Amino acid sequence: KLHNEIQELKGNIRVYCRIRPFLPGQKDNQSTVDYIGDNGELIVFNPSKPGKESRRSFKYNKVYGPHATQAEVYGDIQQLVRSVLDGYNVCIFAYGQTGSGKTYTMSGPDKGTEEEWGVNYRALNDLFRISQSRSTYKYEVGVQLVEIYNEQVRDLLANDAAPKKYPFIRMVQFNPYTPSIVVGAEYLNFFTYFRGDKFGRLGNSSKGVTRSTQLVFSTASLAVPDANMREVSEPADVLRLMEIGFKNRARSSTSMNERSSRSHSVVTIHVHGTDLKNGGSVNAGLHLVDLAGSERIDRAEVVGDRLKEAQHINKSLAALGDVIFALAQKSPHVPFRNSKLTQVLQSSLGGQAKTLMLVQLNPEASSYAESLSTLKFAERVS
Ligand code: ADP
Ligand code: MG
Repeated sequence: KLHNEIQELKGNIRVYCRIRPFLPGQKDNQSTVDYIGDNGELIVFNPSKPGKESRRSFKYNKVYGPHATQAEVYGDIQQLVRSVLDGYNVCIFAYGQTGSGKTYTMSGPDKGTEEEWGVNYRALNDLFRISQSRSTYKYEVGVQLVEIYNEQVRDLLANDAAPKKYPFIRMVQFNPYTPSIVVGAEYLNFFTYFRGDKFGRLGNSSKGVTRSTQLVFSTASLAVPDANMREVSEPADVLRLMEIGFKNRARSSTSMNERSSRSHSVVTIHVHGTDLKNGGSVNAGLHLVDLAGSERIDRAEVVGDRLKEAQHINKSLAALGDVIFALAQKSPHVPFRNSKLTQVLQSSLGGQAKTLMLVQLNPEASSYAESLSTLKFAERVS
């Protein structure tokens, strides 16, 4: 009960920490992790300065050691994911330095087995399966895949041959659980809200809307209205979509790994449900985010494009931290507009939305300084 009250106070922000195992063939295998408690307690230390005073203790909602399985982690996230079907907007993001296991947690290893599937596949399959099994609701599930690189949003489904479709941009009823914009009486505010973004499409997609009609759109549906949305109608669609996204992400760069660690990838799952008994509807979204690597880049060592990338990454991760901190503090001003990332995720941060930060750690001694800065980032909001 106390835990629930604390959760209330924090405005629905949870923090789980996951420590990845040492990898085969890794030489440096002295762990910085000293202790993992059952109640989310974590103690780390610097193996090169092993005195008692150098131990640092942190507390999160949960901590997973290196042996935790994908199924175990998803098991703790499942309820959060499923609450989307009840109209809650949810954001789950993985934060940590490159090599700490963000992509492993969110997607799983490349060509992994079903057992190794990450949160993305499991969540999408779960939502799809449950939405199919509810007899009193009819649900439609749509997916967008984008990456944010140097403050630009790129549609990873843009090259898909299927025609563009916006199944969720249409009339929906007001849903008190979803931060929504009233279009109609506040039609102009609607555009004011998006001013500054280059979402020219917005005008087109809302064509049928007149000032006299009172309509409400979920902001989750509209954050990136330009990007393709694919409807998922069978489990195979999930794998197909992820594969297309993966290929498109790879196509853009010489080294897929390098690029992916410098861009944020965002999977948005939109759910539109209609109550078959009374015609009421539920409209909500789930953002699943594999963030760019949080490691500090030494300014003295990088120039040109690499420096620009690093600056954009620092800026957007700092903006995300500031937004979550403001929400955790119940601050009246939440600075969503400071980065593309926070603008895209806005609907699933704050209000009634539920946010889960997955903090990833590399246990190697050589990563101690980065691990500490990751843990402090998370501590600020937990
Ligand atoms: P990031 O996305 O943060 O850069 P990755 O997810 O690519 O990190 O992980 C780095 C390496 O560690 C990969 O080879 C990945 O397969 C492996 N790895 C990460 N987490 C785990 C885990 N929990 N179990 C097994 N291998 C893992
Ligand atoms: Mg990665």
